[in-house]
Amino acid sequence: AKAKGRNTFHFYSQELNAAANERLFIENELRHAIRDKQFVIHYQPQVDSRTLQVVGYEALIRWFHPTEGMISPTKFIPIAEATGLIVELGAWVLKEACEFAVRLANQNLKNNISINLSARQFKDANLVPLLAKIIKQSGVEAKRLHLELTESMLMGHVEAAIAQLHQLKALGVSISIDDFGTGYSSLSYLKRFPVDILKVDRSFVKDIPQDTNDMEITAAIIAMAQKLKLNVVAEGVETIEQIEFLQNNNCYIVQGYYFSPPVSEHDLPALYAKLNKT
Ligand code: C2E
Ligand code: CA
Ligand code: CA
Ligand code: CA
Repeated sequence: AKAKGRNTFHFYSQELNAAANERLFIENELRHAIRDKQFVIHYQPQVDSRTLQVVGYEALIRWFHPTEGMISPTKFIPIAEATGLIVELGAWVLKEACEFAVRLANQNLKNNISINLSARQFKDANLVPLLAKIIKQSGVEAKRLHLELTESMLMGHVEAAIAQLHQLKALGVSISIDDFGTGYSSLSYLKRFPVDILKVDRSFVKDIPQDTNDMEITAAIIAMAQKLKLNVVAEGVETIEQIEFLQNNNCYIVQGYYFSPPVSEHDLPALYAKLNKT
């Protein structure tokens, strides 16, 4: 039993080691990946399901590592966050996304651009001046920008979060609550925050129409958003049944593989062509 225990421990510590090594590898590689231009942003359309018009895009970062290939943001964003590298990376995303919005505007495309903010970025005292500078230098219309935050980022230091939101909104941008329903916010809490948009989390959408609980939760979130005069976007929409359910419950702006995965800017013309044919 003792020997077995030791082996198990040995095996376990090897696994831990592998995880720690991977973390360390990613951390080290992250340090020069921006400079080496290994990141690109992909854009996933948000579509009005009634008209099939693209109303906006969510900017989603992609890391193409020279030897490892594509590394998922679910893997490297938490490490960037823990090490503080997210501040520089996030600033790069903000700048890229604003410049993208300007290129669209130059083609007469008045789309909104949703940008994910991490907790660290949101708390950064430099965020507001940084964003003000990027807006000015890029020439983007601030009202095109939607900043996506999660509920957990607003909890804790509620007063500080509210103050930061007001400062951001004073720049002219809108605020979205991402992954809505997965956090802890109550209705009364939500009312205190100056937010504009709720994004219904994919976890509620994905099993529609099989899961009646999820359908009720989704319908309740949409109804609540309407009462609070917030816009709603449904995430992770993959099927026509989901779109029909959402339409029947007054949610028309959808984002998900049904219309398109996130694509490179280069692939947007093909996306427009496909939507026009549908
Ligand atoms: P998120 O903000 O919730 O983004 C939505 C994720 O769902 C994206 O994964 C997107 O590709 C995926 N998705 C969209 N439609 C569908 C669908 O119909 N089905 C399924 N199964 N998935 C769908 P992605 O791009 O891997 O990003 C994962 C997470 O990484 C994001 O979740 C966000 O939290 C974070 N992230 C991505 N880019 C950034 C960034 O620039 N900054 C920060 N701070 N976080 C980012
Ligand atoms: Ca998001
Ligand atoms: Ca989300
Ligand atoms: Ca999510």
